[in-house]
Order: sequence, then structure tokens, then C-alpha cells
Amino acid sequence: MDKRIFIGLAWPYANGSLHLGHVSAFIGADILARYYRLAGDRVLFVSGSDCYGTPIAVEAAEKGIQPAEIANKYHEEFRKNLVDGMGFSYDMYTRTTTDQHAKVVQDLFLELHKKGFLYTKTEKALYSPLLERFLPDRFVEGTCPKCGYTGARGDQCDECGTLLDPLELKDPRINPKILNRKGELSDTDRRLEVRESEHFYLKLTALQGALEQWVESTSDSWRANASGFAKSFLKQGLHDRAITRDTDWGVPIPLPGYETKRIYVWFEAVAGYLSASMLWAEEQNTPDEWKEWWQNEEAVHYYVHGKDNIPFHTIIWPAILLAQGALHTPDHIVSSEYLKLEGKQFSKSRGWAVWLPEFLESFDPETLRYFLVANGPETSDANFMWAEYAQRVNGELIGTFGNLVNRTLSIAKSKFPEGLRFPETVDAESAELLAVARDAFPKVGELIEAGKFRAAFRTALEVAEHGNRYINTKEPWKKIKDEMKKDEVEGDLAVLVQVIRSLAMLVNPFLPRTSEKIYGFLGFTAQEQIWKYPEPEAAWKIGDVTPLYRKIEDADIEAQLAKLGKPVAPEEGL
Ligand SMILES: [Zn+2]
Repeated sequence: MDKRIFIGLAWPYANGSLHLGHVSAFIGADILARYYRLAGDRVLFVSGSDCYGTPIAVEAAEKGIQPAEIANKYHEEFRKNLVDGMGFSYDMYTRTTTDQHAKVVQDLFLELHKKGFLYTKTEKALYSPLLERFLPDRFVEGTCPKCGYTGARGDQCDECGTLLDPLELKDPRINPKILNRKGELSDTDRRLEVRESEHFYLKLTALQGALEQWVESTSDSWRANASGFAKSFLKQGLHDRAITRDTDWGVPIPLPGYETKRIYVWFEAVAGYLSASMLWAEEQNTPDEWKEWWQNEEAVHYYVHGKDNIPFHTIIWPAILLAQGALHTPDHIVSSEYLKLEGKQFSKSRGWAVWLPEFLESFDPETLRYFLVANGPETSDANFMWAEYAQRVNGELIGTFGNLVNRTLSIAKSKFPEGLRFPETVDAESAELLAVARDAFPKVGELIEAGKFRAAFRTALEVAEHGNRYINTKEPWKKIKDEMKKDEVEGDLAVLVQVIRSLAMLVNPFLPRTSEKIYGFLGFTAQEQIWKYPEPEAAWKIGDVTPLYRKIEDADIEAQLAKLGKPVAPEEGL
């Protein structure tokens, strides 16, 4: 009770729609936030859209539009899909392009600079005399040193797949795609030359010892993929890394003489956790309130993200925080493995994906929350199969859970329209069922706190399974025909209603809208607000009951399968 819980969810990159793989890595954050609020703790749950970086800058140059147009479009889409669609209960969903974020990043930069953790170094880079600027890797093309392909990009050769440094390219020139609005250019115009460019480096080598000690003392409460990565990465020895780039799409460097350079995303985007917390505090009119989470040793910090984000949350962000020295470092790293789709990796170019905007047009987001918790990539890679999704939703979510709620409440309402009285004494079977519901609260809570969402959800659903066995044994629909047994049926149904009320709370972190609906069926005007087994009411009057979910039909699934493997046209493909 009354702990300060910080939950930082990964920032999606604003250059393309989200797909189910993202949701599978994100969902745990909302479960944690909703659970801890119900447990009476003070939660600060933040995230936002990651808007800077060269992929967006290159795409904008190719299309002849401003990078901000791309970032704005996807920021709005993310907010709509994640908040309105998936029901994520962020306290703050912001973006990296705010002035407030820039100031927080610049302050951190200056603080680390003053403490000696940043230094400058000149390195060779490709300069365009025509554009009078250095060009980042993707703005460059040339001849691949490995296979001789003449259209290799500065970061990679698409012909042979080799990862490249732009300086390795033979005959480097401006990538014509970024100039397509400027008309034809001669070979001389496109020529690039090697010049010296000065950049800031983060002195990770100086933080090796502190990070090792920190990982050693903290990583027991991380997912295994995160602690395994961090330990082996540190074992190889850290190298200093450049944190600025020759680009104009990013947070400006707050020192004179670097006007044409920007702070690179991997230093800048992770600082969004801090800037979003400060923005939240400002918008609450309590501008210092963020300190209760960030300058408080008693606070607990969770970071929730996919496997590819592990380096940023176990090495880079902690290194920045340790260098700064006065801010709370991560406690729990909740990092998922990968989600596949029908056995293959998600791929934008091959059209192998289930895009979240499209999913939400056709299906109930609660069914996705259910499926990705019950079958998601929590500790090993998982596979989204449309047929399995339909089968599990229809079988378990509707068949077990929905069925218990709907058939119990329907019969209770039709046979006892004036209400149900809870029995003064209950039989052994009823006592056992009520005990299962009561005991589930601490069990589910502990599992959620440990980031074991699947086991937590399973424990909650077992209460429903137990309830189904109970109703099948008690057969109230049969007994009600015997007037002598009316009191007995009333008692059994009242016990089941008590269990359903408990379930409404137990599933709330996982299925918030389902929970809200059940409270409505039970006649609550608002959901209960505390994570504990409720004391039975002396009497119940059931409200209107409707089916919790729509069954997923074969035709729904066939329509989705037919869409797979059809790449979107390059123009729309972003
Ligand atoms: Zn090549």
C-alpha cells in the first residue's frame, strides 16, 4: 500500500503502424499499472512516440515532406490505437518532439558533460559540398566493397546483406532518393568527400565497474533474457559511443559550435521516461511531484519492452542514470521474447503482419489482451496463429469464463428477479469454491508483481473453471423446477454471484472492459476500487446481462489469412 511504482513502457518508433508483435511486448505494462493502482499504490505509467532519428529523416527526404509530418501522423495513430483501442491506462503518453523533452535531454547532456562523462572526438565522415553538410549513413549510396553492387546504402548493401559503414563504400555519393524533389543532379553534384567531423562520446568505459556492480545487485528481478544479455555484454567490455550525429532532425546540442549536429536517439529517446514524468507533474500542477518516483529510493521502477530494446534499458539508460548519480535506476526489467505470425517473422516488406489499426476494426481488443497474455512471448518466442486465436477465444474466454458469467447471471435474474439472499451457512462445496476465489487475490497479485502475467492470469481463470464445475454439479437449472429446493438454488446462485464479483476484480488488470461490464451486470454503478476479496453482500439484485464477447467465426479468420503475404505498394508502404 502506498508505494511509488514507476512503469516505463517502450516508446514505439513513429515511422509505421504498430502490429501484434508490439502489443505482445507492451501489454504487461498496463497489467502492472492497473494492478498496482487497485492495490492502493501510487502509479506513474508513462510512454510516448519516439519521433527522431535517420529512418524518419530519410523517408521524409524521399517523399519531399518534413520529418515532423511523418512523426505526427504515427503519433496520433499510436495514441488512438493504444489508448482508445487497447485501453492502455497511461498517466502520460507524450512524444520526443516536445520542447519540454528537448530541455530535459539537454540538461542531462550538460550535467554529464560537466561531470566528465562526455568528450569530443573528431572522426572521418562523408561531406556533401553541394548541400554543405555531413550526411548520415542512409543518405549515402555507393559501390559495395564486398559484392560490387553500385546501389549499396551507407548502412547496408541490399544486394549481399553486408552491414556497412558509409566510409567503406567505393565512390560514395548522395542517395538519389533523398534528392528526387530537387531534379536531376550531375555526378559532380552528388560527389561526397571525406572530412573530419567532431562528435560527442559517452564515456561508457568509465562506467564499466559501476554498471557491473549495479547489474550484479539488481538483475535477479529481471527477465532472464535481460540479465543474460547485460552480463555477457559487460563481460565483452564496454566501448565509448558517439551520442551525436550530423543531422538536423533531433534535439539540438546545447553548446555553441555544434549547430548542424543533433543528439542521437539512443541517448535522447531513453530520457523520455524522465521527461514524460516531469511533463505529467507539470500538467498536474505539482511540478516537483516527479521526484517522488525519481529521487526516492523506496520507489519501484518497472521497464516493459521487447527483446530488441534490452540493450537500451539494461546498459545505456542505466549508464546515463549512474553517471548523473541522483536518479532512480531500473528495478524490474520485463522484456518479452519475439512473437511470430503463422510460424514466420513479422515483415513489413513481405506484407506478413497483423496491423493493429486493422485488427481493431474487426475484433474486440479484450480478446487480444486475453490471447497475448495467455499465449504471448513472455519467456520464449510465441506464435500468433489465427486459428488458435479463434479456438482459444471461443473455447476458453467465451466457453469457460463468459459462459460462467452469462449463464449464472441470466438464471439468477430470471428466477430471482427480486434479488438473491446470500445464505447464512454454506455447504462444503460452496465453502471450497469461495476459498478458491479468496485465495486467488494474494496469488494473482504476487505473480503480477513478479512480471509473471501468464501464470497470474491462469490463476484467475482457474477460479472460473472451478465455478463452472460447481454449477455443473449443482445444476440450478434442474433444481429450480422443484419448489422445495428454491432456497437451496438461491443460496448456490448467491455463492456463484459472489465468485463472479471476485472474478470481476481478479481479471480487471488483464481485461479492464470486461471487468467493467460485469460490475454493470451486478448492478454496480462504478467498479470496485480495491484489490481484495470482497465480503459477500446480504442480498443481490442482478441488472441487465448481455453476452460478454462475440464469437469468432471461421469467415473472420479466413478473411484475415487471405490478407497475409500481400506487400503494400512501396508508395504507401512507409
Ligand atoms: Zn554487397
